[in-house]
Amino acid sequence: MSKQMSPSIAAQEYAISYAELMDLSPHRALLRFHQRHDQRIENITARSTQSKACFNGCAYCCHFKVIADAVEIFAMADFVLANFDTQQIDQIIQSAKHNIEESRHLSHEEHATINQKCPLLINNSCVVYPVRSIKCRNFHATDVSGCRASYENPKDLTILNDSIPEVYIVATGSGDGFITALHNHGYDDRSYDHNAAFVEALENPGCWRRYDAGRRAFITAKYDNY
Ligand code: SF4
Repeated sequence: MSKQMSPSIAAQEYAISYAELMDLSPHRALLRFHQRHDQRIENITARSTQSKACFNGCAYCCHFKVIADAVEIFAMADFVLANFDTQQIDQIIQSAKHNIEESRHLSHEEHATINQKCPLLINNSCVVYPVRSIKCRNFHATDVSGCRASYENPKDLTILNDSIPEVYIVATGSGDGFITALHNHGYDDRSYDHNAAFVEALENPGCWRRYDAGRRAFITAKYDNY
């Protein structure tokens, strides 16, 4: 069923992305979307009286539960395949498999109460930074103490991080517009567990074909759209 958009940043992004997807692959459209998305966040941040506390090397949030849409998983897998050697790719896969095993019997909610290092965080840096997911792009804080407190007390889901509200509104709307355009073009728009989906993308070529055919891309990875 076709999803509807309200007149907003989401609707603006939807119109652009929907038109681009008439000619471009989801991967190419995602890369174009990233440019618009990052620019929107930069514009809002520049106008805000608050400033981000995030800095390279601060990676508390990269230990929280990560989910990503199928098209984003493929973009990150493509980036890894193009930029890393076999040994490095194997290390990433082993790290993801460790996380999968650790969370195998956990519900979505329970999974959110443990810290897991993202397999793409190496030496406290994101190794897929240019193509990191929308949720990773949107995450920011104006005070690192909330991120640190969540990291130190992962079971306490009531801890909030201070952020710039306008950035969340625009970033969320922008992401919704792109993902809805994908959905209405018939592509899988599930948000998958990052670890399991990433391993499938690297080890099972069938998931790329399923995605192109408009089917559920990842079979073993849990998904939750929220
Ligand atoms: S993909 Fe990159 S930014 Fe996102 S959680 Fe992993 S290391 Fe952090």
